[in-house]
Amino acid sequence: MDIGIRVNANESYKNISDDELKDIIEDVVKLKFNRYPDSECNELRELYGKVIGVNKENLIAGNGSDEMISLIISSQITRRKVVLTIDPDFSMYDFYTSLSDGVIKKYKTEDDGSFSVNKFINFGKKLSPKIIIFSNPNNPTGNVISNEDICYILESFKDTLVIVDEAYYEFYGQSMIQYIEKYKNLVVTRTLSKAWGLAALRVGFLIANKELIEELNKSKVPYNLNTFSQMVACNVLKHPEKILKSVEEIVYERERLYKSLKNIEEISNNKVIFYKSKANFIFGRSIMKDDIKKILDDKGILIRYFNDDSFRITVGSALENDLVVNIIEKVVLDVGEDNDKNIKN
Ligand code: PMP
Repeated sequence: MDIGIRVNANESYKNISDDELKDIIEDVVKLKFNRYPDSECNELRELYGKVIGVNKENLIAGNGSDEMISLIISSQITRRKVVLTIDPDFSMYDFYTSLSDGVIKKYKTEDDGSFSVNKFINFGKKLSPKIIIFSNPNNPTGNVISNEDICYILESFKDTLVIVDEAYYEFYGQSMIQYIEKYKNLVVTRTLSKAWGLAALRVGFLIANKELIEELNKSKVPYNLNTFSQMVACNVLKHPEKILKSVEEIVYERERLYKSLKNIEEISNNKVIFYKSKANFIFGRSIMKDDIKKILDDKGILIRYFNDDSFRITVGSALENDLVVNIIEKVVLDVGEDNDKNIKN
């Protein structure tokens, strides 16, 4: 049976509200489709700046935070220059680094995504990286690095740009944005694709001190964000209180999903392990990953699988989460029992 559940891309399970849709439809007819978009995204930067408490001069807006990450890497990285990240982390860091002929180096974290900041700094010092980049909360583990540790990294690598990718910030609540003036080497990226529920629009931001923004703006392509996305994003940014409510619901569901998955872990005899998350997804490891994949695929449920024993489940609606939990529980009980029988035989 094909249920068709997409819990693989860390999108929000909540679509835009009918009220917001009404305002958007009213504004669509006013758009000038024959004209290029506002190249500087002035209204959008103004509104987002207000929401996060920075000036619009501290912001660049673009086609998803992907474009912002690409902008920094392509403007700084040339042949053999090193980008330091952690393993596991977001795969696009590798992609953009290789497009620029750079070298990506990764500091391997523990199974749950945690690491020692001192060891990371020692590892990085030997590599003289031009850029350090990591997501916080981490995609895919959901683990977080404390602001104190990030400040220590910024102080230890004063001549290196340190990019903190805060794509999942809203589900965590701690940001590095208040440090953009103190640390001139700090860049923060954000997106409207996750908590704001606007993945279809591809709207992302880069936040840094004014001088760095001016420098990076020289490498930004003109008209990079289309008029429709700018208009819809502006409409949604006028009601940040709606997002707070939606984030509350997603975080509530995350904790409920985590609890149910931990119950499965308990009965599985460690055949499956789940980790605590500060994002809108839960990371797991299992020797039964292939069995889990087969049954979820058969039911039309998409989660994200990695090359090793790990996988990631995006927090869906209550109904979706219950279905995913029931199926994983059944696989663990049925296949686990078969394996135990085979061992005994
Ligand atoms: N950073 C991280 C850590 C992500 O997980 C994602 C999306 N998967 C992005 C950036 C890119 O998001 P977008 O381009 O939609 O803003």
